[in-house]
Amino acid sequence: MVFEKIEENFKELKEGNKKFIKNGLIDEDEALKLFKINKWRDYLKLFDIASKVRDYFKKEIEITSTIHITNICHVNPKCLYCGFAAGTSKEGYYKPFRLTDEEIKKSAIAIEESGIKRVSCSSAHGYQGKEVLRALKIVKKYTNLEVLVNAGADLTEEAIKELKKYGVDTICCNLETINEELFKKVKPGEELEDRIGVCKLVNKYNIELSTGLLIGIGESYEDRVNHLFYLKNELDVGEIPIMGFNPYKGTPMENHPKCSALEQAKTIAITRLLFPDIRITSPTPTIGAELVQFALFGGASNIATVIPKNHPMNVKGVGNPKTGNLEEVVKMIMDLGLKPKLDWKKYEKYLKIYENKE
Ligand code: SF4
Repeated sequence: MVFEKIEENFKELKEGNKKFIKNGLIDEDEALKLFKINKWRDYLKLFDIASKVRDYFKKEIEITSTIHITNICHVNPKCLYCGFAAGTSKEGYYKPFRLTDEEIKKSAIAIEESGIKRVSCSSAHGYQGKEVLRALKIVKKYTNLEVLVNAGADLTEEAIKELKKYGVDTICCNLETINEELFKKVKPGEELEDRIGVCKLVNKYNIELSTGLLIGIGESYEDRVNHLFYLKNELDVGEIPIMGFNPYKGTPMENHPKCSALEQAKTIAITRLLFPDIRITSPTPTIGAELVQFALFGGASNIATVIPKNHPMNVKGVGNPKTGNLEEVVKMIMDLGLKPKLDWKKYEKYLKIYENKE
């Protein structure tokens, strides 16, 4: 069975065979076989090996918080699943907003004071990267947080150079799905090529690239395998977010079924076997804030959209309005015997003040 071969490859990897880091521990046929498993025994074997691979490379589980800079999106028509952009879902932000410099500063300082070490700053489409650059400058001026920025397909080469100059750690541009027909169906206002172009530019400037999969939107397992191998063979990827579809009320896809946590965990695990040493991310709104442990069983090494109680803004998730609370996420990580990556002194101070507050 495929698991024995994966165990053997992992053993060779640990003995120093770098080929398995570069190529991954599975090939395309094996990845497809793993996507098709449907027995609990196979799930447990898959999660066991994926978690072991994660633990070998990652001694701590990263926690990433969020600053949403603006939800005023110029893509038209809007993506069918989007509940983030102004006017798309009453469960989401709905009203248009753009954070002031002061609000960005306060959010960043609060996140750092909670003990979290990394933040994602994202803006809707339409600013050629200027909004994420504005946020990056402020966050780097007032904190030591690691910063990921995400402006979708809307980054110019000029903006990427500026982001590099101001010390961006990671740039995210999710391809969502590599199935062009499906991409066009769910994102009628965007072109897949534009997103691929941004990813290539990020690589060109040697900045860490994050690029994720939106799963459960109607793609096949073959599509997911093709997507993962495209990332492997055509791009240099430092982070892959796996985002299960989770419907937002009032959007055109509100009746499309949610992608289960088990399906997300399986996809995370297969991604881990293909990309043994990178950051694999599960955002709390897409897996479900209470179901984060599924992502960890699958070998995720970063939990994103984690909001501390001192965050001054009312953050709503991009895939779903509900976000993960810092203390709960930390507990879920520790309950599995894993170690959250935190500034522990700051976290303990934060806990004393906020532990019993709603
Ligand atoms: S998903 Fe992003 S690009 Fe699409 S409508 Fe929403 S904010 Fe705009």
